[in-house]
Amino acid sequence: MIVGAGPSGLTIAQTIASEGGDVLILEEHPEVGVPQHCTGKVSVNAVKELELEAAGVLARVSGAIFYPPSLKPLTIARGATQALILDRRIFDQSLATKAVDAGATLVTDTRVKRFSVKPDGVTVFFERKGKKGKVKARLVAGADGAASATARLAGIYSKKRSEVRISIQREVSGVQVVQSMVELYFGRRWAPGFFAWIVPTGRDTARVGLALRPNAPAPAAKYLDDFVENHPIAREKLGGGRILTESRHIIPTGGVLHRAVSDGVLVVGDAAGQVKSTTGGGLYYGMACAKIAGRTIVEALRGSPEAVLREKTLRSYEKEWRAQFGGEIAFSVRFRAFLDSLSDSEVDYLFNVIQRDASLIRRIEVDGDIDRQSKVGVTLLRYVKYVIKKPGLMFKLRKVFPRPNLT
Ligand SMILES: Cc1cc2nc3c(=O)[nH]c(=O)nc-3n(C[C@H](O)[C@H](O)[C@H](O)COP(=O)(O)OP(=O)(O)OC[C@H]3O[C@@H](n4cnc5c(N)ncnc54)[C@H](O)[C@@H]3O)c2cc1C
Repeated sequence: MIVGAGPSGLTIAQTIASEGGDVLILEEHPEVGVPQHCTGKVSVNAVKELELEAAGVLARVSGAIFYPPSLKPLTIARGATQALILDRRIFDQSLATKAVDAGATLVTDTRVKRFSVKPDGVTVFFERKGKKGKVKARLVAGADGAASATARLAGIYSKKRSEVRISIQREVSGVQVVQSMVELYFGRRWAPGFFAWIVPTGRDTARVGLALRPNAPAPAAKYLDDFVENHPIAREKLGGGRILTESRHIIPTGGVLHRAVSDGVLVVGDAAGQVKSTTGGGLYYGMACAKIAGRTIVEALRGSPEAVLREKTLRSYEKEWRAQFGGEIAFSVRFRAFLDSLSDSEVDYLFNVIQRDASLIRRIEVDGDIDRQSKVGVTLLRYVKYVIKKPGLMFKLRKVFPRPNLT
């Protein structure tokens, strides 16, 4: 049984159902993919690797423009399309159709409240339209997002995993934004503890949002209003725009659960912290880990009912996803900690260092990989370490990356 019909849960469901397994997905919302809180950026590489049908493509982007507090832009671009911007309602619903076509059962409007693991299986208690019910399962896969109840109920929620950023995003129309680029804006006034973004979704439409550390002095909506109305670059692009929708959500930034499996339970996607702390991106990691989880479950279901419930049986999922993504996510957590430690003038200093060296920018463009940021991240930090003239900044870098090779 799967808790949550997001991309991770639906990918597990499809993987199991297409191998002939019996799968039930319970989703708390009445409609899959709604409400939308996500910017929907997914790399072209991820789409290929995961063999996804790119349903709901709103825009294609080939790079990013970074605006540091000094406002001097840094453009990192490639000729070809690097990423797609998706309508998550359409994308998630296409995943749901595939899972159901493969034989999975999807029940919406149903919230999982708790479960109990017994030697003969897991009993899952849910609430549907005000009525309580229960269902018996051989195991539970928690794909219930950043605020996962499954991880808490299984006793594997960790303090690090609870570290989050608070995000707000608006869909706007009547704006003039660069069509093929995402734009990221840095500065403590605009988005302390993260950044603000403008992402094109159509000819005159965009997603505008930001995220903040939870103890920021004002609510996220105030920061977003300030950004839209007063940021010297952004206000020129967004002025006169109309707000179509607004959403708020949390982004896990503290890294992964110490354990993503326990007796009768495994946890996947945002629920497990399988997210890049640098940007909050979690679609690729979540779906890639969900495929691993699905294969592990298929294998586990071939064993005896007692064996399925043992944590040991699910360990190959734990081993494989950590081998593939654990290092990348850990790097992103450190990189975020380094960014968080910087003052605006230090951010400007670092951007200046990069902007002065055209060959470095070229290397970032060539080596940059949205899904595996550590390669270009280490290149960048090594370069910065070599040219840094500020002892305070060097101290901050060494504090987060104590090893000489900065890994
Ligand atoms: C503002 C913002 C922008 C983002 N932009 C990007 C981006 O551009 N690219 C990217 O890769 N990632 C992005 N992300 C992250 C991305 O949205 C997540 O990583 C992704 O949605 C995780 O998928 P998931 O299936 O693990 O969880 P979710 O998509 O959160 O799905 C979890 C599902 O579980 C359901 N659920 C929760 N609890 C229960 C319960 N008790 N019972 C039943 N159902 C339940 C929820 O309703 C939901 O449908 C962004 C996140 C935010 C907040």
